Amino acid sequence: CGIVGYVGRRDVAPLLLEGLQRLEYRGYDSAGVVITSPKAKTPGLKLAKGKGRVRDLEARVPKRFAGTTGIAHTRWATHGAPSDHNAHPHLDPAEQVAVVHNGIIDNADELRARLTADGVVFASETDTEVLTHLIARAPHETLEDRVRAALGQIEGTYGIAVLHADFPERIVVARNGSPVVLGIGDKEMFVASDVAALVAHTRQIVTLDDGEMATLTADDFRTYTTEGSRTNPETTTVEWEA
Ligand code: GLU
Repeated sequence: CGIVGYVGRRDVAPLLLEGLQRLEYRGYDSAGVVITSPKAKTPGLKLAKGKGRVRDLEARVPKRFAGTTGIAHTRWATHGAPSDHNAHPHLDPAEQVAVVHNGIIDNADELRARLTADGVVFASETDTEVLTHLIARAPHETLEDRVRAALGQIEGTYGIAVLHADFPERIVVARNGSPVVLGIGDKEMFVASDVAALVAHTRQIVTLDDGEMATLTADDFRTYTTEGSRTNPETTTVEWEA
């Protein structure tokens, strides 16, 4: 339903929670956030999620939840009941990859059966979780290639944002039939499913097309097709009464 992401120098958890609040008007049943930091002494992902409101999520976020890269989600359940374990983000068992997803993966049952036959143990009933495992198991070096390989096996609609513990300085996003907008800041980048979550921070917006992906780092962003060729989308300035 709703996606928010941030990579920069500021404390990320409050920014993401505030962004989710701005998407609350869309309706949802669960909320979650995952963060990391390129400066962390011990690399890894920190997760808080569950059924309920964004203010319930706020209460679930531990006091020391420091980081500068993160993604967050409000879920409107399509596959699997509203519950703590079905809330996004979804992590692989090694807790290396985290995915938030809007949309519906049509061939999720088939992919789930194949992964289960391969020994994968699922932690949720969502269609989204297949993406997490496909990215985690992709035999590629870069996060972009892993996401691309996973998306190549997916049929359906998605707006996704992906975090990886080994690449804590970046967020990879992709769009097919579910909106993804980038917010271009000064030494910080934002992503959301709706400009409403961005306009408090930047008016410089890049709207992804279907079949397009992007990599965001604090200082830069680049967009490319799911086949890997670079694209040159225009940056627009949105007028908005905040
Ligand atoms: N299909 C996904 C799920 O049920 C995402 C739903 C959404 O767009 O929030 O978890």
